[in-house]
Amino acid sequence: MTARPTRCPTCKKPATKDGNKLFPFCSERCHLLDLGRWLNEDYRVPEAPESAGGAAPSSSPSTDEES
Ligand SMILES: [Zn+2]
Repeated sequence: MTARPTRCPTCKKPATKDGNKLFPFCSERCHLLDLGRWLNEDYRVPEAPESAGGAAPSSSPSTDEES
C-alpha cells in the first residue's frame, strides 16, 4: 500500500489526515475558501417554473346548485 497523500482542494498541497478535522483541507483557511467558492458558484437553487403555464386545475368545479 503506497502512501498517497491527499491534496488540499484549495491549495493543492498535501493534506495530512491525522488529527485534521478539516481533512481533506490542509487548514481552516483553505476549507473556508473552498466553501465560499462552492457557495458562490455552484450552489444555486434552480428557479421553479411556478407560473409557467397557468392551465393547472387545482380544484375541480364543485356544483353550484345549492338552492
Ligand atoms: Zn490548503
